[in-house]
Amino acid sequence: MAFFYELDCFCYFCKKEPIYQFHNMGKVLIIGAGGVASVAAHKVAQNSDVFTDIMIASRTESKCKALAKAIEDKGLVPAGSIKTAQVDADNVPELVALFNEYKPDLVMNLALPYQDLTIMEACLQSGVSYLDTANYEPKDEAHFEYSWQWAFKERFEQAGLTAILGCGFDPGVTSIYTAYAAKHHFDEIQYLDIVDCNAGDHHKAFATNFNPEINIREITQKGLYWENGQWVETEPLEIHQPLTYPEIGPKESYLLHHEEIESLVKNYPTIKRARFWMTFGEQYLKHLDVIQNIGMSRIDEIEYTAEAADGSGPVKVKIVPLQFLKAVLPNPQDLGENYEGQTSIGCRIRGIKDGKERTYYVYNNCSHQAAYEETGMQGVSYTTGVPAMIGAMMYLKGIWKRPGVWNVEEFDPDPFMEQLNKQGLPWHEIHDGDLEL
Ligand code: NDP
Repeated sequence: MAFFYELDCFCYFCKKEPIYQFHNMGKVLIIGAGGVASVAAHKVAQNSDVFTDIMIASRTESKCKALAKAIEDKGLVPAGSIKTAQVDADNVPELVALFNEYKPDLVMNLALPYQDLTIMEACLQSGVSYLDTANYEPKDEAHFEYSWQWAFKERFEQAGLTAILGCGFDPGVTSIYTAYAAKHHFDEIQYLDIVDCNAGDHHKAFATNFNPEINIREITQKGLYWENGQWVETEPLEIHQPLTYPEIGPKESYLLHHEEIESLVKNYPTIKRARFWMTFGEQYLKHLDVIQNIGMSRIDEIEYTAEAADGSGPVKVKIVPLQFLKAVLPNPQDLGENYEGQTSIGCRIRGIKDGKERTYYVYNNCSHQAAYEETGMQGVSYTTGVPAMIGAMMYLKGIWKRPGVWNVEEFDPDPFMEQLNKQGLPWHEIHDGDLEL
């Protein structure tokens, strides 16, 4: 599908030569070169029938080049074919200049949630469609919600551009699982529990599975769930219970606020209660507790006095404790090699079909080792990067191309579900089992 010739200008009367432009429909620009971007770039390269041109741009270009080389060395694409660039994704004019020069069909934002709005703005200014995996979060406030990105809807509509929000695993696949359940198995979804278990062992005392700053901000927030038409707030990690995960067994699972709940209760108004659960080990929680107690999860700037490197005396140094902590914690990208075990993420749904109450559990289990062997990254990056690639594929194939700003459950789930099975994240179903919830 990748190529067609576009008639740019032809005037019969002035006998000007027609200008045919070689137009390539699979040109993708990935922003970010971290764990998720690494997996997405591998998967994009594996699907070169759809993605004919690839650029990776990020804050540190050397990481983009190393990633491009790793993919090319595996023979997935010809040597030298992946372009790279340095870009500050907080800077709209810089992004616009890059987009205008490279002219991608789609920008995949796999940097951090802080960059969502600047990248969306740059997409509008350059006429490019957009995809991301996490909703916007201001740097100075540990708070996420969709309102900031939904506010772009009319402008994307008017520009004829598509913005696909939250196309990782959760949000992403969990939202698509819900859409699939609503389409095929329920007349009315009433209770939704998204369950996310990481039963892997990376053999480190403490590490986060994706960007430590974003991860710790998410987990230390108050819990939130939807019940009977309103949000119910809990203390951080206050509600927990053991849940049994397929091929894994029981794991203590904690109720968290998670962004897909916000769009799912809006798009499926029959939902009476929607919650999100994630497993944490005792060791992880113990470290998290200490980190919080000693102030290392703070996101405000603090000042301390240090000796100047040139020995000229004391100097005032400013740091944000959580950003400093990120710099000393293990890099999530380096966890893969010794990571054992698997993740298990799914949706447990109760509702009505043909007048009867039914339950449905749809999930994927992903092996950290298998993910590492294929992409050099662990399972959490893998389960996010693969759906990001599939979402991009849906857009480029024209299946999920619709002007506006959309959460993934607003598109047809069937072609996406089909690709999950082909691209390394097969799903399984349990009908009318015990949901435990
Ligand atoms: P990483 O920290 O590994 O990677 C982030 C990348 O973004 C780095 O390459 C970083 O550059 C780059 N970056 C950061 N700031 C800028 C900037 N201003 N300009 C340009 N590039 C920048 O994060 P992950 O790969 O773990 O996560 C990526 C995204 O995926 C996050 O938004 C995260 O929230 C989301 N996510 C979503 C999940 C889901 O299921 N939906 C699950 C897990 C993650 P540098 O290398 O220089 O630091």
